[in-house]
Amino acid sequence: MSGYPKTPQVHVRVAEHRKFNVEPRGEFRVEKSGNVTRYTPLAADARFLAKNVPIGIEFHWSQNAVFSLPGVVEVAEFGDGAKNLDNFVDVETYLACVVSSEMNPAAPLEFLKAHAVISRSWLMGKINGAHPSASDEKIHTSDTVIDWVDTDDHHGFDVCADDHCQRYQGDARVNEAARKAVEETRGIILADNAGNVADARFSKCCGGRSERFSTCWQPLDFDYLTPVDDPFCDLSKLSEAERRKVMDTILVSYDRATQDFHDWEAEVEASDIEKRLTERYGFRTGTILGLEPGNRGDSGRLRTLRIVAENGVFTVGKELAIRRLLSDSCLYSSWFDIARRGSRFHLSGHGWGHGVGLCQIGAAVMALQGYDHHHILSFYYPNTQLLKIYE
Ligand SMILES: [Zn+2]
Ligand SMILES: [Zn+2]
Repeated sequence: MSGYPKTPQVHVRVAEHRKFNVEPRGEFRVEKSGNVTRYTPLAADARFLAKNVPIGIEFHWSQNAVFSLPGVVEVAEFGDGAKNLDNFVDVETYLACVVSSEMNPAAPLEFLKAHAVISRSWLMGKINGAHPSASDEKIHTSDTVIDWVDTDDHHGFDVCADDHCQRYQGDARVNEAARKAVEETRGIILADNAGNVADARFSKCCGGRSERFSTCWQPLDFDYLTPVDDPFCDLSKLSEAERRKVMDTILVSYDRATQDFHDWEAEVEASDIEKRLTERYGFRTGTILGLEPGNRGDSGRLRTLRIVAENGVFTVGKELAIRRLLSDSCLYSSWFDIARRGSRFHLSGHGWGHGVGLCQIGAAVMALQGYDHHHILSFYYPNTQLLKIYE
């Protein structure tokens, strides 16, 4: 990778065609051009507040949040009262915000440093277009959907502010530890053995074994996104006091409402599955008779799910499409066993999220047990090295 003369900049689309309130606090230069107003801060403590901004869209933690944005902000207003909100900020400032938005900044420093490195790697790979998607293997026929969400489907900006990219909610929660984690890893990314920036994926809890890239996205695999057995993220192995410490210091407040994510149970109504298949994919299934695992990835996550119905057998994949099919608020993961119970299906599952790359819960437990960020990163991403790409 070539070096950068100075800290790179990132263009974040914080909200797109949404209704929210804005409140610039402090001194700004305000310039209007057509329907766009640009706010350039003139003092170090000037912050642009955006209130009632929707986050966690289509996930079980969806809600409205207040953003406190550093850097330059542009607001584009549309006739219907909805607005776009764009934020232009340097990468290091952005990262301190991401680290504090993804996780609780009270988490151990070595964990926050590991997170800063992978969040930087993911972002720099994206800004440089290092990991293009190939969507030509997606399938949509009258009985089969194989689909996934590409990360390069944004045009005109680098990243969104929601879980689709990385959670970025401004700097209201940035504390000394988050700032330090970013400063002490400044310019450092995770690279493969050839020196290419790694596509450093991460998710909340792998459930005991991490997953291969191709189970969730395009049919590609990387030797650093290879399944590893994770003995760290099962909090039931810890004492009640240790478990409480992990939950209280690692997760952001609204994630703490989610308990039992390593092993979980869920019930799904057959008629809800039928309804979603019709609404989303136009499938005419008739009554759903059974759910069967199709292909599984290395962790046990389903790559495809077979739906046996009155009008035939239907197939849905990949990982996220399955989670969304089985729950309006997105099932914790696609790693589960299925048992029929009358008109419902009972699912016994493991993990929270796609499970590829770093497991946030496991990594945080490693840090609490004294492992440093080098150890944590080489555990979850074998065959990688750390590279400094700008001073
Ligand atoms: Zn995005
Ligand atoms: Zn794990």
